[in-house]
Amino acid sequence: YDIEELKRLDMAHHLHPFTDTKALGKEGGARVVTRAEGCYLYDGDGNKMLDGMAGLWCVNVGYGRAELAEAAYRQMLELPYYNTFFKSATPPVIELSAKVSSLMGDEFNHLFYSNSGSEANDTVIRLVRQYWNLMGKPYKKTIISRWNAYHGSTVASASLGGMKGMHKQADLPIPGITHVMQPHWFDNAEEGESKEDFGKRAAHAIEQRILELGPDNIAAFIGEPIQGAGGVVIPPSTYWPEVQRICEKYDLLLIADEVICGFGRTGSWFGHQTLGIKPDLVPMAKGMSSGYLPISAVAVSDKITKVLIDKGGEFTHGYTYSGHPAACAVALKNIEIMEREHLVEKVRDETGPYLAEKLATLADHPLVGEVRTLGLLGAVEICKDKKTRQRFADVGKVGTMCRDHIMKLNTVSRACGDTMVVSPPLIIEKEQIDDLVAALRQALDATAADVEK
Ligand code: PLP
Repeated sequence: YDIEELKRLDMAHHLHPFTDTKALGKEGGARVVTRAEGCYLYDGDGNKMLDGMAGLWCVNVGYGRAELAEAAYRQMLELPYYNTFFKSATPPVIELSAKVSSLMGDEFNHLFYSNSGSEANDTVIRLVRQYWNLMGKPYKKTIISRWNAYHGSTVASASLGGMKGMHKQADLPIPGITHVMQPHWFDNAEEGESKEDFGKRAAHAIEQRILELGPDNIAAFIGEPIQGAGGVVIPPSTYWPEVQRICEKYDLLLIADEVICGFGRTGSWFGHQTLGIKPDLVPMAKGMSSGYLPISAVAVSDKITKVLIDKGGEFTHGYTYSGHPAACAVALKNIEIMEREHLVEKVRDETGPYLAEKLATLADHPLVGEVRTLGLLGAVEICKDKKTRQRFADVGKVGTMCRDHIMKLNTVSRACGDTMVVSPPLIIEKEQIDDLVAALRQALDATAADVEK
């Protein structure tokens, strides 16, 4: 490739998502990633980078899997496309639906398909509303979500999310969505409050909102089992059981957004299994195909399909590419690889505990207030005063500095505000975890030196 020309064309013609394009221009343009293998990315400037984020939390089986390319190729030759509307189906969509249902336990037997996590969450809103419509009076409409949640970027899914910047930009949320405190002990606990007490208080914020708005108006609660883009927020052990109890008490549907936590990330097939949550709807995407082709789905529990099918007959919703045959073929092969290589067990028994042990060694760093891990999700909280958990004044600035430093070390980790997060491919080996943690320490040292200047 002519990399300089590509960078020039990129600046001239490509509007990047979530990117400060002016800053990008000053820095000489985009990093042009040209190929990847295993856990490593290669760019046009000759750098080899350890991908501590699995792309955007998605390349679970790692890069360079010929089997996935072959699965897409074979399917495209045989039947590149056919829709699933109007009583049609194709073999891959049928087989994938049965396969994913088998990974989800007895309560789930149906999948509805889309192409991205955002669309899966738009689908969730449609499902919730159609369900309560069919259930008859009272028509429950409002969905409770949490601040700092990320459920996607479309108007509806960004409304479900709790990112205030996105709300401000586009006059969101749409009506029928309300947000409560996230279960983030490090930022939201009161002085001296234990994690257990805080977990219950964060759950009770949901109950309070239900009572404020009236239980007859509240249709559902949505939460990522572990908030990802919100900063890998692993809730205290008291949180989810209390949320579950509240949802049951007030007859709310419980939605576990598994777009990040699904497909092995937490050491089970799904995050709700790791955390003991019993959801009614489960949106999923990313790791479903390890990002090789776009695909997402919502797993719909029998409780809901019974009403949709028996009382409704038709779920009035769909996308041209719902159940795209090539994407389904790739997702099926991806799951086959995960099973054959025992990747879920590897995260649970081997690499997850190892990442926890190694990341914990960063807790002694002067900038680090807390370290959290579950499975292959990790967070390192950067703060000004580790004793009081006081943040730096301009949240995000120091995190970005640390992110820039680690990138210079040819290692990818992301800053969510002032939280450094990691989410490597599930094939990562212990030596690569050592490299990732060593780079984080070096980046934190360089950041500390900058802060002191
Ligand atoms: N839900 C969660 C939990 C996510 O992390 C994301 C993306 O990061 C989404 C939904 C949206 O997925 P997509 O970017 O595929 O639309």
